[in-house]
Amino acid sequence: MPGIPQEILDEILSRVDIVEVISSFIPLKRAGRNFKALCPFHHEKTASFMVNPAKQIYHCFGCGVGGNAFNFLMRYERIEFPEAVEQLAKKAGVVIPKYNLDRQAESLNSFLYKINELAVIYYQGLLNSSEGRIAKEYLIKRGIRSETIESFKLGFAADKWDGLLNYLRSKEINLSLLEKSGLIIPKQGGGYYDRFRQRIIFPVYDLKNRIIAFGGRILPSREKEMEVAKYINSPETPIYVKGKNLFGLNFTKDNIAKFNAAVIVEGYMDFLTAYQEGIPNVIASQGTALTTEQLRLLKRYSQNVVMVFDADSAGQTATLRSLDAFLEEDMEVRVADLPSGFDPDTFIRKYGIKEFRKRIEGAKNLFDYKLDLLRSRLDQNRVEHKAKIANEMLATISKIKNAVLKLEYVRCLAEVLNLKEEALLIELKKIKPYVSVLQEKCLLEDKLSDIDPTEKLLLKLMLEEAELIEGLRGHLEPADFQNEHIARIVSVIFDLASQGRSIKPNKLMAYFSDEKISSFIGELLVPDDTLRGVESRQEIIHDCIRRLKNKRLRLKREELQEEIEIAQRTKDTERLEKLIQDFHQLTRGGI
Ligand SMILES: [Zn+2]
Repeated sequence: MPGIPQEILDEILSRVDIVEVISSFIPLKRAGRNFKALCPFHHEKTASFMVNPAKQIYHCFGCGVGGNAFNFLMRYERIEFPEAVEQLAKKAGVVIPKYNLDRQAESLNSFLYKINELAVIYYQGLLNSSEGRIAKEYLIKRGIRSETIESFKLGFAADKWDGLLNYLRSKEINLSLLEKSGLIIPKQGGGYYDRFRQRIIFPVYDLKNRIIAFGGRILPSREKEMEVAKYINSPETPIYVKGKNLFGLNFTKDNIAKFNAAVIVEGYMDFLTAYQEGIPNVIASQGTALTTEQLRLLKRYSQNVVMVFDADSAGQTATLRSLDAFLEEDMEVRVADLPSGFDPDTFIRKYGIKEFRKRIEGAKNLFDYKLDLLRSRLDQNRVEHKAKIANEMLATISKIKNAVLKLEYVRCLAEVLNLKEEALLIELKKIKPYVSVLQEKCLLEDKLSDIDPTEKLLLKLMLEEAELIEGLRGHLEPADFQNEHIARIVSVIFDLASQGRSIKPNKLMAYFSDEKISSFIGELLVPDDTLRGVESRQEIIHDCIRRLKNKRLRLKREELQEEIEIAQRTKDTERLEKLIQDFHQLTRGGI
């Protein structure tokens, strides 16, 4: 875990009691050696949420979440890892050394937040003054109500080169620090000038409701001028990194979690109109393709997303292609389009929120949307067009994480295009470095129930009886485990063992930033009596090792066979020779 030393995390975890932590939020009932409760993370009538005091972990059998005390706090309070650590450290009376916190940087940041606060007051004041009348009239004319203007702290920058500059100077703010806020720009001959002039100002907030940047929209009277951009934004600063923030999420995150869906529009005005008129789970992409970091941020609240496009931009294959990123993050993305020439703002104002909601409800999943679009543009009776449709669709399908779903879409596509499924599978493999479908299936399993019981059993043994680890380390390597998660966990366990460190499940969890892994360890350990009554551990272990080795060999063989077939079909003799050689070597024994 970056930032905080593992010893500190261990220290905190050994001092807090997970039962105490969780029961300060939800009532727990004793059930044998464990505690039970109604799960706070999914709706249920019978308790499937378990807390195990011996292992200091929790797990829900209903929705699969689980982890240690940190994970619980993160999930329950919807906070980041460092905050969860801070809270528990306080509770445990552990002092976190500020070794990595540059005090200067910290004070610079708080200074920048303060400047932004002051700037907002200045811009708001101007919007409500006679100078800002045109801007305010424009907003009102576009249907933005006073309450909305007020609650989002919209403002106005006047037609002056030094308006904000002088205001902040009067507050005795150091100019070189002010420059770091990006609100003023140094002049060539010395001095500074305001970045935002003659613009409506939209503050950009972070998740803690702090203002981290600004967006400025040019006044409509100047819109036609060629040399000015319609929108400009703050540059990156120590508190604002582009692509790490989602506009509006601080306002709508709770609703996104509640409805388990987010509606993504493009601009500030789209956001404000939609939010004001009753789409409480909206956010704005600010017109750029979303970054992985933004998706992960959003994913904390919901995996389901509806993108609202106007027909013109959705028509762009490039725009659609940017949506593949959602699939890579294992998110569900649907596309709603609006008639040509409309954006969400103009559409809602013309047709009303009900019609807009209908569009959202009628959103198609990415696969259907893209396929329909391609088929409407290309003639699938022409061979070259058919190939183009297939390739575009396969590019998207290749991004789908779930292997079963992936195969299902290939089947679907084959049917629609009247092509052989195998042909599509071969093409699909060309899209990224070769990964066998079989192997992929193993990699992508997320549910414990789908994982090879042998792998589960071995990991469980290691977690329950740490003294077995040393012996296993001599016979196994992480790569013997086909499941990606288990392989990762095992590699950390072996690592710790080689350093002679103790391995306790709740502490082990702190090594993984991926919550799935914690849930996974939790699920494996609660309830913990699978092994009760088992007599000879050694015999079981030997049997397990043998099975793992055999399986690895078999998979490798199958993978090679598959590759050989493809090489034969594609008449790639050079590759074929190499593959056959590998195959013989493998069957002679040894990987
Ligand atoms: Zn649950």
